[in-house]
Amino acid sequence: MTNGNLYDANVCISCRERLEALPETISLTAGEFELLNRPQRAYSFAIPVRMDDGSVKVFNAYRVQYNNALGPTKGGIRYHQDVDFEEVKTLAFLMALKTSLAGIPFGGAKGGIQVDPRELSEGELERLTRGFVRAAHTFIGPRIDIPAPDVNTNSQTMAWIVDEYANISGAYEPGIVTGKPLELGGSLGRGEATSLGGAYVLDQYIKDSGLQRNELTIAVQGFGNVGRNIARILSGWGYTIVAVSDISGARYDEGGLEVETICSEKEGGCILKEAKSDAKHLSNEELLALDIDVLIPAALADQITEKNASRVKAKVILEMANAPVSKEADAILARQGTVIIPDILANAGGVIASYFEWAQNAGNEYWKLDEVNKKLREKILGAYTRVQERTLHNGYDLRTASYEVAVERILKAEKLRGNL
Ligand code: NAD
Repeated sequence: MTNGNLYDANVCISCRERLEALPETISLTAGEFELLNRPQRAYSFAIPVRMDDGSVKVFNAYRVQYNNALGPTKGGIRYHQDVDFEEVKTLAFLMALKTSLAGIPFGGAKGGIQVDPRELSEGELERLTRGFVRAAHTFIGPRIDIPAPDVNTNSQTMAWIVDEYANISGAYEPGIVTGKPLELGGSLGRGEATSLGGAYVLDQYIKDSGLQRNELTIAVQGFGNVGRNIARILSGWGYTIVAVSDISGARYDEGGLEVETICSEKEGGCILKEAKSDAKHLSNEELLALDIDVLIPAALADQITEKNASRVKAKVILEMANAPVSKEADAILARQGTVIIPDILANAGGVIASYFEWAQNAGNEYWKLDEVNKKLREKILGAYTRVQERTLHNGYDLRTASYEVAVERILKAEKLRGNL
């Protein structure tokens, strides 16, 4: 293999495209661009798992540590049949920008295992998770790289990681992961922090725009942990949630949904299509095209693309999912005058609370819920203010301003370390 091929093997195409799309005013030097357009470390693992029927299956797993100039790398690990290396690199890149923008002492990482978790028993999932820790344990650690839950992983997954890591190292180190159960060193407030952070940012934006909470209508796509909690919080603050959706479809009431009732049904295991609510049934595509003030994509990536962007009528999009708006859709929405509050700002509440959890583990002292939420508000609104100042000063949209603030902090750290 030539050096050229080796170089290509680690490049993240979509990260490079995202950097290339930045305006010339941000002007990265060639060295800065080279340093940011690919991950520092990208691991791929093959994990053998003994299945319940005695056979062995081997699963592909990835961990990408994109940039650690600001501290140990931090990012979730997802279990999904469509996970691929390029996607994990892109998500790790977004994490590096997110931690930088949030002003926390972490770099960015992401991990994924190519598996459909619905096809594995609880015992098989546990063995897969422990297998991942055995494969990756020399590359992760509380001062190296700290995983967390992501799509289809949860506090139980993190508990298995804590236990397997302790089995290998011989010492109990809860700071190896965040998003743990409280009994194993988790933090109060971590479960709702992503949604609460997004709600703080949206609420501040609404205030700054001179609008009133009770005048605004909101639709939420995705009714999992993030979507359900943000619907609940915003409804409690006086916003009108007119529509919500999950994979089965959407429910809509132009006068406002009874959010608490729908949440309870969903938490009882009901899919939205079958919820008892009188609200109208809509398709997911119809939800995205509703004539509303705020659209909150909180499901998966690439939900708003060049195919449906021109039908979006919402004036503001709060990106709670990672990368829910494609690059092509971004340009269409900009022409329509839609304001996008970008993922690296809108959903940073989760990683901020993860930092609090890690800090509590390191200090072995645990905080009350109102203390966690107060600190979360300060941190995320600090990031929001830095972005807004840049927007006003340079005339950028919020995504460009967020990228600029985030990239600058990473590059400053790289210069101080002597790497640039
Ligand atoms: P989750 O698995 O709990 O929920 C996802 C929801 O999306 C489910 O209700 C599912 O039915 C729904 N869904 C899937 N495809 C859909 C579609 N096409 N249309 C409508 N709904 C659809 O996941 P989550 O933890 O709520 O995370 C949601 C998103 O937020 C993900 O993109 C995740 O990466 C991002 N995120 C989560 C956190 C966190 O702390 N959980 C932090 C940052 C970002």
